[in-house]
Amino acid sequence: NRRVILKEYVEGYPREEHMELVRGGEVPLRLTGGEPAGSVLVRNLYLSCDPYMRPKMSRPVRESYTAAFVPGEVLTGYGVARVVDSSDPRFKAGDLVWGITGWEDYSVVTPPASKLLAKISHGAGDGVPLSYYTGVLGMPGLTAYVGFHEICAPKEGEAVFVSAASGAVGQLVGQFARLAGCRVVGSAGSAEKVELLRSRFGFHDAFNYKEEPDLDAALRRRFPDGIDIYFENVGGAMLDAVLLNMRVHGRIAVCGLISQYNLADGEKDAVRNLSAVIAKRLRLQGFIEPDHKHLYPKYEAWVLPYIRDGTIAYVEDVAEGLENAPKALIGLFHGRNVGKQLVRVADG
Ligand code: NDP
Repeated sequence: NRRVILKEYVEGYPREEHMELVRGGEVPLRLTGGEPAGSVLVRNLYLSCDPYMRPKMSRPVRESYTAAFVPGEVLTGYGVARVVDSSDPRFKAGDLVWGITGWEDYSVVTPPASKLLAKISHGAGDGVPLSYYTGVLGMPGLTAYVGFHEICAPKEGEAVFVSAASGAVGQLVGQFARLAGCRVVGSAGSAEKVELLRSRFGFHDAFNYKEEPDLDAALRRRFPDGIDIYFENVGGAMLDAVLLNMRVHGRIAVCGLISQYNLADGEKDAVRNLSAVIAKRLRLQGFIEPDHKHLYPKYEAWVLPYIRDGTIAYVEDVAEGLENAPKALIGLFHGRNVGKQLVRVADG
């Protein structure tokens, strides 16, 4: 059984040396009986690389909403797996599940497993790839749905801006905005990504923020009448430029601030244009996906037909093998992923 452990707390950008692939231990074919009652043994198939894993690699800090990883222990995160053995009657061998698992070949999910894992009722064979449960049908999908529909309450005809727009969450926000009858513009960090936004995801306009460093001018050009809704994924200079371009009574869903995750406290960007929140009577609201799990069935029922009929496209970036998981995770912070980054550990 191979597993990826955190070797030491990370300061600055994560590097491969911060993690280690440890080999050893029998491949478990059954629960040994020594685990707590209600445990579930799973074979991991796909692992999700998510930006929130980076703050968990730092020493615990006051404002974090999930516990830090522990050096020497296996990393945990979202994934798709097959149940091998279970002492929880809600799961049986052969079931496909998604939820929180370990960065290893096999994991024992300890009780209450039903809080961590959800059964996949329709998988291979129905036109929906299993790996989508790390993305559009998993945590990033619900994040995009909640952040856009619940937090921003969009109205037809409104102007929407999305940063990190080609990523796991952003590509969906753009498509949800288009479906809601909004005019949507996205920013991303390469020509290839900008092209995807326009041609695959139906953004009305898109730009490469690295090639237009005057972000205020870049936004003013695309939004001469201002922005009604900003879906915030990056923070820093982009947030400051957006604040200058918001319309009166605009809404900002603060989903993530990836540009800040690798900076030490003293290095983090200050928000200089916060007074726009008052002048323009903006609503700026942070949210986290775990608070909204109860909306998953509603979201899944809404999005599945769109996936099946091709109305919603989903682009994935698949790294092959557990040994490449650390590199894939690190790539998120250098914009190397094109679409949702995940790792294939084994075939379904
Ligand atoms: P992505 O798939 O978008 O991958 C991360 C992308 O962020 C990179 O590809 C890169 O794209 C961009 N990026 C990296 N560093 C920077 C930087 N310094 N400045 C600007 N852009 C940068 O990730 P996700 O879609 O999974 O996550 C997007 C955001 O949503 C993150 O901030 C994440 O933390 C947050 N999130 C929040 C959740 C919640 O519950 N609140 C749940 C899930 C995600 P590019 O090439 O375009 O720069």
